[in-house]
Amino acid sequence: VTDPTRTSYSLLPAPERAYPPAGHGALDAMERAIRESEAYFRSLVENARDVIHVINPDATTRYITPSVRRLLGWDPEELVGRNALDLVHPDDLPRVMQVLRMDRDVPGTAGTIEFRAPHRDGSWRVFEAIGKNLVDDPVVNGIIVNSRDVTERHRAEQESARLAAFPRQNPYPILECGRDGEVMYLNPAAERLVGELSLGSARGLLPDEHGALVHACARTGEGVRGVEVRVGRRVLAWTYHPQPAVGTVHLFGEDITDRKRVQERLLHHAMHDSLTGLPNRNLFLDRLAEVVRRREHGRAGAFAVLFLDLDRFKVVNDSLGHHVGDELLVEVAGRLRAAAAAGATVARFGGDEFAVLLENVAGEEEARAVAERLAQAVAAPLVVGDYELFTTASVGIALEGGAGQERPDTLLRNADMAMYRAKALGASRCEVFDHAMHHAALERLETENDLRRAVERGEFLLHYQPIVSLATGEINGVEALLRWRHPRRGLVLPSAFVPAAEETGTILPIGDWVLREGCRQLAEWRAEFPRARIAVSVNLSAKQFTQRDLVEKIAAALHDTGLDPRHLKLEITESALLDDPGAARDMLRRLKEFGIQIQMDDFGTGYSSLGSLHTLPLDALKVDRSFVSRMDEEDGAAALVRTIAVLARGLGMAVIAEGVETRGQMDAVREMGCQYAQGFFISRPVDAAGIRAILASGVCD
Ligand code: C2E
Ligand code: MG
Ligand code: MG
Repeated sequence: VTDPTRTSYSLLPAPERAYPPAGHGALDAMERAIRESEAYFRSLVENARDVIHVINPDATTRYITPSVRRLLGWDPEELVGRNALDLVHPDDLPRVMQVLRMDRDVPGTAGTIEFRAPHRDGSWRVFEAIGKNLVDDPVVNGIIVNSRDVTERHRAEQESARLAAFPRQNPYPILECGRDGEVMYLNPAAERLVGELSLGSARGLLPDEHGALVHACARTGEGVRGVEVRVGRRVLAWTYHPQPAVGTVHLFGEDITDRKRVQERLLHHAMHDSLTGLPNRNLFLDRLAEVVRRREHGRAGAFAVLFLDLDRFKVVNDSLGHHVGDELLVEVAGRLRAAAAAGATVARFGGDEFAVLLENVAGEEEARAVAERLAQAVAAPLVVGDYELFTTASVGIALEGGAGQERPDTLLRNADMAMYRAKALGASRCEVFDHAMHHAALERLETENDLRRAVERGEFLLHYQPIVSLATGEINGVEALLRWRHPRRGLVLPSAFVPAAEETGTILPIGDWVLREGCRQLAEWRAEFPRARIAVSVNLSAKQFTQRDLVEKIAAALHDTGLDPRHLKLEITESALLDDPGAARDMLRRLKEFGIQIQMDDFGTGYSSLGSLHTLPLDALKVDRSFVSRMDEEDGAAALVRTIAVLARGLGMAVIAEGVETRGQMDAVREMGCQYAQGFFISRPVDAAGIRAILASGVCD
């Protein structure tokens, strides 16, 4: 096939003549008439908005209307004689040729075709043409093509096709609804969804309140976002978008099933304990708040909050490992859930703490009964791996005051306080909250807050109580006893704040201060009274004793104050040895190597068996004053003091009797084999000036 764009392209045989021959004589009038008519048509053609193109059978342009100048920028003269197909975009040529049957000798055919024509400025315009092959017509002997510039229309069509592709190819469902909510259009994605979910109609994709939403949209002219609909197992979110100009509402849908699932999983995660699957504190508080609200409006019965803590869980966890601990918790969780009444919320707050929300409980009796049932369920023996475990629980109960008076966190705190009381009363029991507990707890809280500031403000001071030798009556040392000069409460004794300080950790800075102050004071006294052979005893709480850098701290205190280590005695209690006996023994050894003496305080009241005493490098035992005071009435107490003295001597330890209040007691403990004594009978604890006065009087010389 020859290149159709080339002028050499051959169509049909050339015409013999283009116009009929001119006539003579009688025909003049007729000829004039014809001329006039021709002029008329010529003017018609030349002024046409369309381009009329007469093409010779050899494809050259015979004639083209001047409108080509306006539409394509070409002068008709430059086109005449040139290949007419030069005015067709090469890509459109085959179609043009086919429609005009210009490639074959089939005269008389006609057709409509769209093609692009080159503008003189280099751009392309779109033309719609109608062509007629009149090669057989002796008058024309060519092809007449009438073309119209449809570039703008074409552009508009393309634009609307392009826009229509948006909803059509959109993977999200899109609907258009009329004023009454009726679905007027649904895109293919929406159709697919209707099919997939076997809904029958697009209405099934929409929320129940669809009609109302459409009305609201149309009325306010404002859209609505994120209207969620559950359709089968899918979740769709619709955005309603009013189209005031056309009086419809567009609906854009989104399948948010996956996002929703992730969201729900996150929510579950945020609201549940991952180990046991029980609700966590957040969810528990939510539910509690909900009950309180309903109660307020008289829509819920009386309820109670139970707080439950396992006894000795830490021991299981630390000694048998976290796996065993975890399994124990999972088992306990299951038992609690099973034992709690249906409808009760059983939650885990972390660690070994559980909370239960009991709804519709008649009163304290019923709440107690449930608590007992839960405690029993926990107490049943449990086999984890190779171990048979026995756990008990302490339970605190808080009953609401009726009519939604308490705030959820208050109830929880009350139950927690009651649980603490249960623990304090020996654990494995159940206590109901009362307001005295609250008072005690508040005071404690206040103490804790004040304590933190007390160290910085220097509110502590030391009193000293002399310790005398029972053989000579000489003062052999003093025990430093901590006092707190509270700005409001006056002088506070250790029993009122040391437990709180131990619990909050403030005992560490306080203890550091006691150690330094005790050492400093003694060094001062020894400098002033060189002949007084006294030592200072400093009490260490268990928390202090387990500090890794204890030896370094003591060394620094001694160094800084210039006190000889032999003049420092540390008093520890059995509880210091309890947690980690091995580490405690190491610590004792290190302190002893340093030259410090160590005494066991309050001996006889703790847990350590007499049997392990010989393994500890102790210098002395301080017999607890409860034995000394009971000696008068009980033979047993006296026997015990005697036994302790014998035992101590056997181990090379000294024995100090505490709390000697009478001459009789003093004589008795001496007779029983105690070497030293301390007590009100000898001296009450006094301030530093008091001790200085005693030293100055030379009693200890
Ligand atoms: P503790 O170490 O057994 O101290 C002896 C306690 O018995 C002192 O009470 C003392 O005043 C009291 N006492 C002495 N003789 C008699 C007596 O004849 N009759 C009676 N009824 N009591 C007597 P205090 O000073 O109230 O101290 C109580 C406890 O506080 C101490 O018991 C000790 O465990 C602790 N503590 C005192 N100071 C410190 C300290 O600096 N650090 C630490 N961690 N604990 C301290
Ligand atoms: Mg002591
Ligand atoms: Mg004591």
